[in-house]
Amino acid sequence: MGNELFYDKKTGWDRMRADDRRAMHSYAEGYKEFLNEGKTERDAVNYLKAKAESCGYKPYTRGMSVKPGDKYYKLNRNKAIILTVIGEQPLSAGINLTAAHLDAPRIDIRMVPLYEDNGMAFFKTHYYGGIKKYQWPTVPLELRGVVCHVTDDGIESIPVRIGDKPDDPLFIISDLLIHLATDQMQKSMMKGISAEKMNILVGSEPSQTDDDTSDKIKLAVMEYLHQAYGITEEDFLSAELSCVPAFPARDIGFDRSFVGSYGHDDRVCAYPAATALLDLEGIPSKTAMTVLVDKEEIGSDGVTGMQSRFFDTMVADLCRAQDVIPEECLENSTCLSADVCNAYDPNYPEVSEKRNDARANCGLALVKYTGSRGKSGSSDATAELMAKIRYLFQKNNIIWQTGQLGKVDQGGGGTVAMFMANRNIDTVDAGVPVLSMHAPYEVIAKLDLYAAYRGFGVFYGME
Ligand code: MN
Ligand code: MN
Repeated sequence: MGNELFYDKKTGWDRMRADDRRAMHSYAEGYKEFLNEGKTERDAVNYLKAKAESCGYKPYTRGMSVKPGDKYYKLNRNKAIILTVIGEQPLSAGINLTAAHLDAPRIDIRMVPLYEDNGMAFFKTHYYGGIKKYQWPTVPLELRGVVCHVTDDGIESIPVRIGDKPDDPLFIISDLLIHLATDQMQKSMMKGISAEKMNILVGSEPSQTDDDTSDKIKLAVMEYLHQAYGITEEDFLSAELSCVPAFPARDIGFDRSFVGSYGHDDRVCAYPAATALLDLEGIPSKTAMTVLVDKEEIGSDGVTGMQSRFFDTMVADLCRAQDVIPEECLENSTCLSADVCNAYDPNYPEVSEKRNDARANCGLALVKYTGSRGKSGSSDATAELMAKIRYLFQKNNIIWQTGQLGKVDQGGGGTVAMFMANRNIDTVDAGVPVLSMHAPYEVIAKLDLYAAYRGFGVFYGME
């Protein structure tokens, strides 16, 4: 016996054979493509919808048949998506469900954004999600989103996407030069950059139009937007435009073991949750489902967030088609709340508790509870559920570990887990550890991404 009595968090590398390593790198290539395409929840939904359709998934509408092997997807206002494969057992046996989010911290454009000031044109912004504001100036930004143009004949949605093609222009928030930053450098990191200074530079060449406006540069920007998209300044009132970091996802390190990208939180869980479902072979015993939502970064509220009745309505529709009571389905369901956790960072050991924080390359991290202070805002999974998933992963040789969000009383955070658990669904967080979470460029380990893909796959097949 001896050491066998001890639990030791082990690196996953010892368990990765040569073919596992190859599969891991090749899986990460698809993930990087998804990251570059899906930089907003709308773009991510579009990408996954197309991928689902290519795998034989059909859009679900109320009243359709719900029989074993049926594959459906359902969109929520183009900002959230449910994918599901109907299982052999009736829905009263419950669903094996993953829940992840597609939104990520970013810089949103205000409703009346455009102005001219001292020879330059800018957009006013409003940051979305929890960011360290000082990280965002001087970072190249792309513009993505949709403008809903109102005409005499009705409404037209115009997608906007500028900055991801090699010869596209980019956008930027300026920062003070160090030479004049004596006062700024005395400020706390919280106050060094104020939200009202996070204005995006969008132009400086005045319009050639013979017009008596004094805002010639603003006019030139509107002329460009009118020509390219047919929109007027008033159309910003019904637009959702965001600036997101323009860096593409890239391998990090000599050994290419990491991926650096904008938006790993939470696409590094959404992507394996979706692809493990799409790649599922045969008909699962229980219905398998992934729900990929919006608004997690601002509290999961709203019509496209996890607290929306969208999910409940979809489950109820499926249940009704099988004459099952939705409440019975939910009480027998199990949910992996697929969201990222912090990866232990050797540069900042003081905020972590190294026995309990997740580590890069130790696999998919099960997090029994999140929250802050005395576990406030957490659903705290039961011992029985932890054991059930532990048994499943052990039996299927999944590389996994446990995690927690740093030292107690150091900070905290939450996921969608509690909103699933509140629905009477057995729920535990399971996700990929991330370095520099919520920064414009975050880092994850490919081993953990691949472990998540494999882990979600065996979970969907759980009896
Ligand atoms: Mn997250
Ligand atoms: Mn987050």
